[in-house]
Amino acid sequence: MNLSANTINKEILFLEPVCTHNIWGGSKLHDDFGYKEEGSDVGECWGISAHPNGDGTNKYGAFEGWKLSELWEKHPEVFGNLDLDRFPLLVKLIDARDDLSIQVHPDDSYAKVHENGSFGKTECWYVLDCPENASLVIGHNATSKEDLEEMIENGRWNDLIREIPVRKGDFIQIDPGTVHAIKGGLLILETQQNSDITYRVYDYDRLSNGKPRELHIKQSEDVITVPAKDPQKCLIHTQNSITNELVPLFSCDYYSVFHLNLDGDIAFRQKYPFLNMTVTDGSGIINGQPINKGDNFIIPCGFGTVEITGKLQAVLSTADRIKEKDAENELFIDLRRVV
Ligand code: ZN
Repeated sequence: MNLSANTINKEILFLEPVCTHNIWGGSKLHDDFGYKEEGSDVGECWGISAHPNGDGTNKYGAFEGWKLSELWEKHPEVFGNLDLDRFPLLVKLIDARDDLSIQVHPDDSYAKVHENGSFGKTECWYVLDCPENASLVIGHNATSKEDLEEMIENGRWNDLIREIPVRKGDFIQIDPGTVHAIKGGLLILETQQNSDITYRVYDYDRLSNGKPRELHIKQSEDVITVPAKDPQKCLIHTQNSITNELVPLFSCDYYSVFHLNLDGDIAFRQKYPFLNMTVTDGSGIINGQPINKGDNFIIPCGFGTVEITGKLQAVLSTADRIKEKDAENELFIDLRRVV
């Protein structure tokens, strides 16, 4: 492998994703997004992932056949030489035919001690599709730890769980310690820390292969934030965002997420360590290469000017925290006020 840094950083990295079968999964990832995995229980497509449970493979070019984790290790310059021991993000599409279990994730410090050095999990959702009057579980109604434990112990789920209405185009931030669940009928793009640590609080008393799935009550009680954050502080409505601009939606210590609603063309400089992109609808051309709904790729560090034409929707992310003053437009700030 004798490529100059210049060549390496000019190649867009298209990834072959890894899909998973889940008791709550459906068939839209195959039927609507064109992923190869067949079945009526395909719940997740790990579109951009270097996690050992689903490590994406480079589809074309100089790195064809390479796992993303391998590329991260051997060519850190592609990702801006970040001072991290693994690719920091995981982007997945989730097709929930049925309700997912009610769950919570630890933060970095809890995961490090209790989960063998794993990252914690901060995540966020972009609602790609949902039925009318859809809702999601975000947060809970307990006022103290004792209150929380009493409600869990006595199975008072209806009193405990808080649901908020959502519609297509909503963005939801899920901090560690937030009780959350995706409800049946929703199609979601999730951007998260590269971690697979989930504590299941309640599974609607369902059986999988004749048995209830394991719950993690002790860990959940340890990590659930009490009282829960105001749900309106977790939600951004993006439906009226402008076209043909890279619109920053949210930024935290782990990621920044952008939305692109393209009908025509856009050109922007790739100024981040790397930029993940998932085409969630439509099609177009990026720097001479065709892109379609369902494509997941990474635009490397130092790529230069990204030029896209077409009619498409996309969700993008990077590991950098962007400051409000660096946002290329005011919408980032405005959207946060619109909640
Ligand atoms: Zn989660």
